[in-house]
Amino acid sequence: MGRPPETLANLSLAGAALDRAAHRRRAAGLLEALLGDPATRVLQLEAGSAEVLDGAGDDDGRGGRGGPGDDGLRLALRRPLPADREALGLFLGEDGDGTAYVAVVGDAVDSEGARDLRTLRQVGADLGHVDADLFTTALGLANWHATHTHCPRCGAPTRPEQAGWLRVCTEDGTEHYPRTDPAVIMSVVDDDDRLLMARGAGWGEGRFSVLAGFVEPGESLEAAVAREVREEVGVEVADVRFLGDQPWPFPTSIMLGFTARAVTTELTLQRSEIAEARWFTRAELLGGVARRELGISPRLSISRGLVERWVGHPVEGPP
Ligand SMILES: [Zn+2]
Repeated sequence: MGRPPETLANLSLAGAALDRAAHRRRAAGLLEALLGDPATRVLQLEAGSAEVLDGAGDDDGRGGRGGPGDDGLRLALRRPLPADREALGLFLGEDGDGTAYVAVVGDAVDSEGARDLRTLRQVGADLGHVDADLFTTALGLANWHATHTHCPRCGAPTRPEQAGWLRVCTEDGTEHYPRTDPAVIMSVVDDDDRLLMARGAGWGEGRFSVLAGFVEPGESLEAAVAREVREEVGVEVADVRFLGDQPWPFPTSIMLGFTARAVTTELTLQRSEIAEARWFTRAELLGGVARRELGISPRLSISRGLVERWVGHPVEGPP
């Protein structure tokens, strides 16, 4: 998708630094071969978490997967172990040096010693680009596998194939590919340059975000933006513009970021979804965050990126 000149740059999780090497997935026995090769690097996912290390040092024999993130975290990748062949394996791709990466997916493992297990939400903004791609891809794919163990047509079990990029029904042979669910997220700004933010039903007091929602079948992205804003707060919008996108594997989404101009400003809340909504000036938003009365989305998220684009600079606040 071509980017208009004014877009969101440097979104976390959206780096595309990893070569996904999709052409290799159909090779017979690819996972077995890679898990028998000590040069392969394995990402062990344990109930959605992965072990991380400080960025210092480079003694684990990895290829060129880019430096650690600004805060110096990297994934604790390891050589293959015999037990990896029993786990769900996912071929994630290769880096610029041809090092192959495989995720093995398991439940939480009782940890001896002080392994630092973290979720992608916790560390996604602090990993280097290749590591962020590895974790994001592995988590999204693992989340899809976890909910597609049976065939939607006949109910029989499915089994993974193509190095984790396909499930096949053991009864009727139908093929089921990993899904990504598109969601739109939008900064809505009125003619007085105020930003619309809302507190979701069930969120804590003072926690606000821009609006978001899933795209429905038969709907364009622009139509989804307008519908979500109308449904949730009763505001009509125009001039919907794409600004950027971010994979969001919680569990299997991609967030498509837009901005739109409000043509009405009266707020009528959909109470099942929205507890509170407000138009913020920059001074109100920055003051609220500084006084810790207002909580905005974490640095990891495109939601934060949309808010900061409207503010015009990074906002000091939550991590
Ligand atoms: Zn079936």
